[in-house]
Amino acid sequence: MTATTAEPVVIQAVGLAKSYLTAAGLFPALKGVNLTIHRGEFVAVMGPSGSGKSTFMNLLGCLDRPSSGDYILDGKSIARQSPDQLAALRGKTIGFVFQGFNLLPRMSLEDNVALPLVYAGVDVHTRRQQAGEMLSKVGLKGYEKSLPNRISGGQQQRVAIARALVNKPKLILADEPTGNLDSHTSEEIMALFGDLNREGITILLVTHEQDIAQHAKRQVRFLDGHIVSDEPTLQVEASC
Ligand code: ADP
Ligand code: MG
Repeated sequence: MTATTAEPVVIQAVGLAKSYLTAAGLFPALKGVNLTIHRGEFVAVMGPSGSGKSTFMNLLGCLDRPSSGDYILDGKSIARQSPDQLAALRGKTIGFVFQGFNLLPRMSLEDNVALPLVYAGVDVHTRRQQAGEMLSKVGLKGYEKSLPNRISGGQQQRVAIARALVNKPKLILADEPTGNLDSHTSEEIMALFGDLNREGITILLVTHEQDIAQHAKRQVRFLDGHIVSDEPTLQVEASC
């Protein structure tokens, strides 16, 4: 799906800032970031370690509150939401994927994928059915009853993506999802994100690596808590 500015705005960060209280005083990790993302975009968030990428993603994911500024998620100002409203909005709008796959080791893959549905109050039969569908979607049909330690890292990240998808989110936030994977497996995971984006899901993905960022359509680069560039991905044509 090609995003255009005619598409609705999914994310609008307005002067978003975050300072952490440290022993040395307040540390400004994010210094007033403005960014608008429309439905259907696929954005790579880049920049060196410590530049504020995870801080920014945690704010976008409503896992943390800004020190100042605001953020409009799917038309709603975060600053005006109560903690309960925020949790509900997050649950139905956003799927998260992290670098560590964060699967529960004693639960089957099916139960891991179904976990967000437990929180949403969905009955057990529907949970199994939807978790099975999502495992098929990420190429893991037949693994429903397996435990996480029986599968590879790439497969574990597929399970984490299935879990992120099970609530049918509009937006996926992924913080270095290929950081623990070899380059071949990383390419496979990025192809999966590409497929999800073509289905219309908006994706923001943090990565250190230019090869990985090439899968996105837009690249936003952070440095010292600021956005220093924001450009469409240049497609490198294969020469023959
Ligand atoms: P990135 O994801 O780009 O590596 P982060 O957003 O994790 O960067 O961190 C940005 C800066 O904020 C870093 O200097 C980091 O040490 C600091 N930082 C992050 N989280 C905290 C925290 N909870 N308390 C204090 N400082 C933090
Ligand atoms: Mg980080």
